[in-house]
Amino acid sequence: MPELPEVEVTRRGLLEQLSGRTIMAITWSAHRLRTEIPRRLLQDHIDRQQILTIDRRAKYLLIRMQSGATLVIHLGMTGKLGLLPEETARHKHDHLVLGLDNAMELRFNDSRRFGSIAVWPAMQAMECECEFSSREGIEPFDSDFTAEYLLRLAKSRQIPVKSFLMNTRLVAGIGNIYANEILFAARINPLMPASQLPAAAWQRIIKEGRRILQQAINAGGSTIADFLGASGHPGYFQLQFKVYGRKDAPCPECARPIVKTALAGRATYYCPICQR
Ligand SMILES: [Zn+2]
Repeated sequence: MPELPEVEVTRRGLLEQLSGRTIMAITWSAHRLRTEIPRRLLQDHIDRQQILTIDRRAKYLLIRMQSGATLVIHLGMTGKLGLLPEETARHKHDHLVLGLDNAMELRFNDSRRFGSIAVWPAMQAMECECEFSSREGIEPFDSDFTAEYLLRLAKSRQIPVKSFLMNTRLVAGIGNIYANEILFAARINPLMPASQLPAAAWQRIIKEGRRILQQAINAGGSTIADFLGASGHPGYFQLQFKVYGRKDAPCPECARPIVKTALAGRATYYCPICQR
C-alpha cells in the first residue's frame, strides 16, 4: 500500500510532466471506486482545464487547475498513476484516463478499487479543502509536528504507539511499513501504550521518522521514470527494510531474531531486545 513517500514521489514525478498541460478528454470505467467517480464534476470542472500545480496532503494528491478547481486522488491499496502515450493499450483496471494536449495520458489503475477520485469546483475549493484537511492528521514534516504536540495528543489514548502512528486522523501518511521501521529506529516497542511514552521517545520518533521518510523519498526520486511506468504497471520502489518482512532474520543491531506479531490485524515486526 502506498504510504507518504510513494505518494510524494508520485507527486514530484507528475509535477514535472503535468504542470502547464491541458486536459483534452476524460474517460472512466463503469466501476465504482471506494466512492463513485464524480463524472459530472469531472466534465464540468476538470475537462479542458490547464494544470497549474500538484500538492500532497496526507496520502492524497491535489491536482490544482488554473481555474481554481482541484482534482483529488487517493491511491487506496493498489492504485497507481501511469503516464503513457495515448496509443498504448489500456489495462483492465484503468478506471480514470485523462487525455493531455501532448498525446500522453494520465491513467489511474486500481485493481482492488479502494482508491478514490474527488473534484472540488473552484467556487467551493477553499471550503472543501479546509473541511478535508481538518479530518487528516498532522504532517510529519510540518514544523508543528513536535514532541509537545504528540505528547498532548497521546495523553488520553490507550492505543499502542504503532496504532497511534498509523491512525490517519492523528498522523498523516504513515502506514504499516514505515510505522514498523520508524519504531525500530527509535528503539520503541510497538505495543507500548502511546499515553506512556515520554517526550524523549516522541522526539526520537520525530527524528527517525523524518529521516526514514526522507530516505525513502530520495530513493524513489532516483527511480521516478520507472515509477511512472513506461510499462503501464509501475511498481513501488523497494527499500532495504531493517525489520519489516524480516521475521526470524537477525536484528541489524543485536543479531537476535526479529519477532513477528499481529497488532490490530496488521503484521508487526520488532526486535524484543532493542525495542523493550
Ligand atoms: Zn535487536
